[in-house]
Amino acid sequence: MLIAGNWKMFKGPAEAARFSGVLHTMLAGTKGVDVVVAPPFVSLPAAAAELRESAIRVYAQNVHWEPEGAFTGEVAAPMLVEAGAAGAIVGHSERRQYFGETDETTARRGHAALEAGLGVIACVGETLEEREAGETEAVLRRQVEAIAAAVPEPPAALDVAYEPVWAIGTGRTATPEIAQEAHALVRSLYPVGRILYGGSVKPENAEELLAQPDVDGALVGGASLDADSFAAICLTAARLSRS
Ligand code: PEP
Repeated sequence: MLIAGNWKMFKGPAEAARFSGVLHTMLAGTKGVDVVVAPPFVSLPAAAAELRESAIRVYAQNVHWEPEGAFTGEVAAPMLVEAGAAGAIVGHSERRQYFGETDETTARRGHAALEAGLGVIACVGETLEEREAGETEAVLRRQVEAIAAAVPEPPAALDVAYEPVWAIGTGRTATPEIAQEAHALVRSLYPVGRILYGGSVKPENAEELLAQPDVDGALVGGASLDADSFAAICLTAARLSRS
């Protein structure tokens, strides 16, 4: 199991360091779950320094496909490595929705990050309009196939997150059945190691989602900003993976 916390545009360097220290203490010695936190770029070194002695890994929330160049506002994979990151999220729906991220740029970012030795969480998921129009399967197929075209043989460092856009930050969670169905589809399309569910995961609903056979972890937004909530989700995953 993998539980990843996406901090979005929250927690500057000082708070990232403090919060990482708290998580380190709360999760010390926890077995059976890999834990990732994804702070904003400027907070990566602070979080990584605080978690140096911990099993918790630090991911960026995005990464560019070129190793350097005239790409104002972007950050390259080798820079992330230098800042202490072990991986990057790519193709998050907020990037797709607000910043013009496409299937193609998501795939390029993921491929470059893997080439640089980083782990990757590649996000896919349909919007509410797409679900209501009966397009969920076609959308997931298109998004997953773009990643598969760039990375035909997925390494262990690549995880996919299924995040239905209508469930992100809305408090509206996919039912375990909806999550399972989407995860099984993704798995049938692409032999990726772990498929995480994301979309309003909280301590109260983590167990029923993580208990699904094709749900291998969670990408957590809002609830990852609170140490008690995030640790509770990690401990649920650890318990389920032992049983
Ligand atoms: C996310 O940001 O990836 C996410 C799933 O957010 P939330 O848990 O707040 O819905």
